[in-house]
Amino acid sequence: MLTTTEGIVLRTQKYAEADLIVTYLTLNKGIIKAFAKSPRKTKSRFGSSLEPLTYSKITLMGKEQSMPKIIQSDILKPFYRLRENFQDYIHISKLIEILIALTLEGTAYKKLFLFLLNVMNLSEMLNPPFPPFNKGGEAIFSEQKKAFYITSQIHLLKILGYEPRLKGCGKCGTKCFYFYPHLGTALCRKCAVTQSKKNASPIKITSKLIKFYSHCTGWSLHASTRLRPPREIISALSTLLDEHINHLLNKRLMSSEFLAKVIINR
Ligand SMILES: [Zn+2]
Repeated sequence: MLTTTEGIVLRTQKYAEADLIVTYLTLNKGIIKAFAKSPRKTKSRFGSSLEPLTYSKITLMGKEQSMPKIIQSDILKPFYRLRENFQDYIHISKLIEILIALTLEGTAYKKLFLFLLNVMNLSEMLNPPFPPFNKGGEAIFSEQKKAFYITSQIHLLKILGYEPRLKGCGKCGTKCFYFYPHLGTALCRKCAVTQSKKNASPIKITSKLIKFYSHCTGWSLHASTRLRPPREIISALSTLLDEHINHLLNKRLMSSEFLAKVIINR
């Protein structure tokens, strides 16, 4: 059986000597794995279309359950600038890691697909052609870009139904400033006594953070590229989201650990 769809390459995995298993986010079928015969041999007919983040039109043969074979793959947009920009690549990898871990059967595939494509398009658009460099000769990652990726993470959680609630107590609606990562909501002191686990440590949140978060969730991704939050808000929100996601997944995201070590300190 032949199927044609649009797909974004999320991951690739070497298989045997020259074969490849490609994980796609597709427009119609959500996340699927497909098998590519000998793409690592020179003069492969797939060219660079199986590189991570490539957006292609793909034709598959075989049933989804038994890993279909990629028959044809034509690049619609290569997104090579995102792949070659180390920081963009790590941030998008984090979104992909969350997406793969939290996508359940029946998830709104089309919405997810359009979301990721939108993130990649906007991210490329936000990259200046001549970025400023630090002393080590690396391109400086702008505050605008950091804000954009935090907003993207929030939008992704919203699509997947795991958007944290920061505005008001999740039980009674009272104004409050403590977020409980394992519950995904802020709670007032009174409700925290009955709702929260003993020894669960909440994260203190500020009015400014709540305000920025409301903009993130209320605005479109495109409109939110105009947001210029202070550095400390981005940092606090990043920590809060990481804690929340760690509880959702019951593990730490590899890309979060990597980002914390490599990028946050720059
Ligand atoms: Zn309450």
